[in-house]
Amino acid sequence: MYRTLIPTVIAFLSLSACSGDVEEVDSYDPARDYFTFANTGQFVTDHLALDLNVDFEAQELRGFAMLSMRRLDSAATELVLDTRDLTIASVAVLENGSSASAEYRFGETHETLGTPLHIAMPEGAGERFELMIEYNTSPQSTALQWLPPELTAGGKHPLMFSQSQAVHARSWVPLQDTPAIRITYEATVRTPESLLAVMSANNDPLTPRTGEYHFDMPQPIPSYLLAISVGNLYFAPLGEDTGIYTEPELLDASVYEFADTQAMLEQAEAMYGPYDWGRYDLLVLPPSFPYGGMENPRLSFITPSLLAGERSLVSVIAHELAHSWSGNLVTNATWRDGWLNEGMTSYIESRLMEVIYDVKRVDEERVLMYRELLLDLESVPEQMQALAPRLDDTTSEDFQGTIHYSKGQLFLEYLEDAFGREVFDEFLTSYFKEFAFGTITTEQFLDYLDLNLLSQEGSPVTREQAEQWTYQPGLPEGVSIPQSENLDAAAAMAQAWAEDKVGLDEIPFADYSPQAKIHFINSMPADLDFEKLAALDAGLGLSDTRNAEVGRTWFIQVATRRYTDAYEQMEVHLNRFGRSRLIAPVYGALATNGEDLDLAREMFARARGAYHPLTAAWIEAGLARAED
Ligand SMILES: [Zn+2]
Repeated sequence: MYRTLIPTVIAFLSLSACSGDVEEVDSYDPARDYFTFANTGQFVTDHLALDLNVDFEAQELRGFAMLSMRRLDSAATELVLDTRDLTIASVAVLENGSSASAEYRFGETHETLGTPLHIAMPEGAGERFELMIEYNTSPQSTALQWLPPELTAGGKHPLMFSQSQAVHARSWVPLQDTPAIRITYEATVRTPESLLAVMSANNDPLTPRTGEYHFDMPQPIPSYLLAISVGNLYFAPLGEDTGIYTEPELLDASVYEFADTQAMLEQAEAMYGPYDWGRYDLLVLPPSFPYGGMENPRLSFITPSLLAGERSLVSVIAHELAHSWSGNLVTNATWRDGWLNEGMTSYIESRLMEVIYDVKRVDEERVLMYRELLLDLESVPEQMQALAPRLDDTTSEDFQGTIHYSKGQLFLEYLEDAFGREVFDEFLTSYFKEFAFGTITTEQFLDYLDLNLLSQEGSPVTREQAEQWTYQPGLPEGVSIPQSENLDAAAAMAQAWAEDKVGLDEIPFADYSPQAKIHFINSMPADLDFEKLAALDAGLGLSDTRNAEVGRTWFIQVATRRYTDAYEQMEVHLNRFGRSRLIAPVYGALATNGEDLDLAREMFARARGAYHPLTAAWIEAGLARAED
């Protein structure tokens, strides 16, 4: 995923609620996935076959999931799968050509984890078997958003898309929903005839639009990378192995904006070894897609808020592409190890951006990243500031901000600085090769780092120093603080203008990069009066910006400073975008400025119908926090 306001994992568990016994602090097992009910020590899934009807009227998927499974523990008599809001019609165990229906029951529903499905294994079931489950999803599925035509770009056809990460695949497929298990999959998907289905699989750009589509995913993936979308989607190529799916209304703008995707792919291969997934395509979704991007393999799902018309926000594409190595190829074992996905990816994103664009632009983005990280470190509780935090029932906080992303990136930059770029690139390339299509913990990463770099004679970094990054709060010594002359100049200009040392017409705002514009806005002193803000807004056209990130930055300031003249345009911004990063902090600033909590609630009530349920839930949680 691209940097969000919210962590990958939305809420932490009460362990006693899911395991049923009293947990001692010392019983915490960092290698255990606390976000699944599945008994993966006894059974594992190798392959999934889906046969689904897409019903826009009922807002449900209906059909069959067949899981090819192995029994690891011959004494095990009960198999537990993850589900959420699924209706199960039947469960059968298929073995050696014969089928036997199996007894099943739902366990108790947990707010974060959904509902465990307990399946009794028939006596005499062997080591390998297939589980056939007939089921349907519900309109409340947390993974699926069903958009009516008016919330699409074209306005004539409905559109549906999934967002499975982190724990939502279980709300559209009954399965072992943990990154520790990798599966291959195939699917048959039936849709209204005029629409096209795409998945995180082998989409064929030339497939005829028949309303029945077949998919194969031959590379094993964790369940959070299962993805589907159905809509009035069309394809346009970007390069030999890259292209775009989106509604026809967004196709030209998307092709222009993301023209460098093929070059990014080739560059990433040159740096970190072969791209192992076949094609790399983008799916540009309607505004309600809750993230910047989601790295669904072969087909990244992308927010349309990147369509700035100037290719200024395409680091998100570099990020999702980079996940093809860090995350999709080598996957975090549990969500606690999420920095292995996101920190590594943010680091590679920067490296790709440096080659495709230039180092100055990357430095600008790094300065903004560092500023956001420092803000997060002020608000995130210490025990959540480690790269690999303890997720357990002593943690009530549900918020890690950008720490997995940005602190992770800084850790890898620190290692690169210490060992030199050439050595560190070799290390990463061999790391991806070593753990390809595997799942690893922070401890396995540290061991591999230790073996290949830290324990080498004359190593400039000790294991203890590396562990400071992974297990301690804050930022360790030796972090290299990002610098950008362009941004320094923009900050100095903001200061000089605030002190009336330069006039508005002397600010070269139109020539600034979007990153410099953001930094300028963030550098305005806190005590600016209303007239100054009004003059600035009128002079620079801030409230009318078409750049989503510049708008985000400006409207956070508008809300924080109660610059009410721009509230109307602020509400336009809140309705134009559905990506949580762009709007949740604006609501948050409005709700906490001391005057406008009720107004924030009203604006949210007017806009929420167009938001994704996850985005709506996060904003709601922010408003509830503001009340306390
Ligand atoms: Zn990501």
